[in-house]
Amino acid sequence: MENESTERKTGYFGICLAVFTSLEKRGLLCVDISEEDGGTGLDYLAYAIAMEEISRGCASTGCIMSVNNSLYLGPIKMYATPAQKETFMKPFLHGEKVGCFALSEPGNGSDAGAASTTARLEGDEWVLNGTKAWITNGYESEATVVFATTDKSKKHKGISAFLVPKPTEGLSLGQKEDKLGIRATSTCNLIFDECRIPKENLLGEPGLGFKIAMQTLDAGRIGIAAQGLGIAQAALECAIDYAQKRMAFNEPISKTQMIQDKLANMEVQIESARLLTWKAAMLKDAGKPYTKDAAMAKLAASEAATFCAHQAIQTLGGMGFVTSMPAERLYRDARITEIYEGTSEIQRLVIAGQLLKQYAAH
Ligand SMILES: Cc1cc2nc3c(=O)[nH]c(=O)nc-3n(C[C@H](O)[C@H](O)[C@H](O)COP(=O)(O)OP(=O)(O)OC[C@H]3O[C@@H](n4cnc5c(N)ncnc54)[C@H](O)[C@@H]3O)c2cc1C
Repeated sequence: MENESTERKTGYFGICLAVFTSLEKRGLLCVDISEEDGGTGLDYLAYAIAMEEISRGCASTGCIMSVNNSLYLGPIKMYATPAQKETFMKPFLHGEKVGCFALSEPGNGSDAGAASTTARLEGDEWVLNGTKAWITNGYESEATVVFATTDKSKKHKGISAFLVPKPTEGLSLGQKEDKLGIRATSTCNLIFDECRIPKENLLGEPGLGFKIAMQTLDAGRIGIAAQGLGIAQAALECAIDYAQKRMAFNEPISKTQMIQDKLANMEVQIESARLLTWKAAMLKDAGKPYTKDAAMAKLAASEAATFCAHQAIQTLGGMGFVTSMPAERLYRDARITEIYEGTSEIQRLVIAGQLLKQYAAH
């Protein structure tokens, strides 16, 4: 844990931290937290638009922003007591500190209900044991929302949510993962070994953890959809710019119908995914059910990101394959949007499950 403070100032994350300073001015780390609680007080549609724009410039910065806004502050906004908000919300609103969210484990990602991390109550303390995997901002964050089983016999209904400050004795970090994309973010294991936290750090009621996690992911998926849109839009713009300038056979390649076909298909995928994303955000803002819509938005936007980044590389030819142009980074960054906060396969299961429920009711 000693290297944490230097990690916040150096390397790729340090560059993003510099952006955070300007994000702080614009209030983008706490977009939908009420002004009463010290946040920006905007709605989820505004959050989605902001996430798209930030990710259009840098998907890693978008990722850091998404984790703080939706995965960390989201459940705290919904379930924290006023005293918990003082400690775990206020310093996390404007970049002074960033938070993280620890649900996945080495043995279960998609099957989040199978969590094997445990928490037992001993006197006035919860004692946590187990390993959480793939935790974004793991190195730089100064608190985490953690999910652990308090009653194994109840399976996923025995999972509870906890607020753990970092550093805390008994909590250590695994090594930083060497990733394909979003390389400015840290991703690592959080290892809990007889980690003691005060009894009052339980978030919500005992046994409410799985529900809190699923509600958090529903909202978070709108943010990941917006991140995918930003990547896709950047890929399209990169392809258009290059196609208008690159000459082949005495004309810009943008004049060829095969390049135009790529640009048209990219635009259709982006615009369809954007409408789905904004619809899901508006349903959430209106207090209506949006689980299926958020899953459809994430599925469409993440697949649009992968598709558009692929097409952008093809449009750039050799220049798409080298680091001097952004297309290859967009291609690498796009892939994560189809994996975290539920893979594309899991989004399809959610969509189909909601559909079948909807039609069973008729
Ligand atoms: C860079 C990165 C950052 C991350 N950040 C976080 C974070 O901050 N916090 C956190 O808690 N987690 C985080 N994750 C974890 C992420 O959410 C999981 O990786 C993801 O949910 C998939 O879980 P898994 O990797 O265990 O894959 P698995 O669940 O093992 O899935 C492997 C494959 O099987 C498929 N599959 C699994 N079950 C089914 C099924 N029932 N039907 C059809 N197909 C299925 C999956 O779709 C996938 O293709 C992060 C992951 C990465 C890579």
